[in-house]
Amino acid sequence: MDAIGIDIGGTKIAGAVVTELGEIVAEERVATEAGDSDAIVDAVVAMIESLAAGRDIGAAGVAAPGFIDAAQSTVYYTPNIPWRGEPLRDRLVERLDLDITIDNDANAAGWAEFRFGAGRLVSDMTMLTIGTGVGGAIVTRDQLFRGGFGAGAELGHMRVVPDGLPCGCGARGCIEQYGSGRALLRMANAIADVGGIGQALARVRDQNGKLSGHDVSALLVENDPGALAALRELGHWLGQACASLSAVLDPQLFVFGGGVSVAGDLLLDPVREAYVAHLPARGYHPEPEFVIAELVNDAGVVGAADLARVHLGLR
Ligand SMILES: [Zn+2]
Repeated sequence: MDAIGIDIGGTKIAGAVVTELGEIVAEERVATEAGDSDAIVDAVVAMIESLAAGRDIGAAGVAAPGFIDAAQSTVYYTPNIPWRGEPLRDRLVERLDLDITIDNDANAAGWAEFRFGAGRLVSDMTMLTIGTGVGGAIVTRDQLFRGGFGAGAELGHMRVVPDGLPCGCGARGCIEQYGSGRALLRMANAIADVGGIGQALARVRDQNGKLSGHDVSALLVENDPGALAALRELGHWLGQACASLSAVLDPQLFVFGGGVSVAGDLLLDPVREAYVAHLPARGYHPEPEFVIAELVNDAGVVGAADLARVHLGLR
């Protein structure tokens, strides 16, 4: 049965018709009017209607950023969209003649990797999405882990530094402040400030007024020692976090997605290094693999569509 997957992002809403094999047969996208909750609901309804027209569609899954309840119905809280206790599923169901489920966007992306991407050969997988922030998804014994209230697997808000840097979530010392794209820029700026290996970073910063993720990526491609040092620092933080996650979840595989993961082994090598150094019961604990996500841009819509099928009991 084909299903529709919708991924509501901060800048765009993407939608697709997805087969049971995870293949996309049609897709659409529109810009998100992030400040306007009603406009987003209207856009999602229009997109589902348009994608379903003339097709036999069994269900639709909607991936949204933020905390979703255990019934996969209400958005508790979304950082960039004014949704607080928003009954998103009810609002869509009353306008669409289709089974609808809501899921967290990182969960949807992780599920897509587990079903059709890097995690398809394991039963237990932990995914970290390294974008502006840090997202997480956990699959354990072939099931997506959501927690008792539905808001689990927020791996970005694991505390790694007691009373560390303040986080957007209101707490301090979350891994999001040490392992995200935004953290990478902070580290790159600090290296630029001291000169030495940071000279190229400082030069680009002077030229452009400030450092962007694109600037750091371009320098990484050139093997610039300053940009590499910033990425290594980021990878070390993430590797330590993975060692703690292994103690709790014991996955066979860690998958890294998000914009920063295009650095590939430049990111994974320091992650592996720090992981081994911090792993509890080191030497006696079977070691997981660390890989880069395979589905990249389509993961959210593919995972949301497949989770809609799971919700119907078709999977
Ligand atoms: Zn946090």
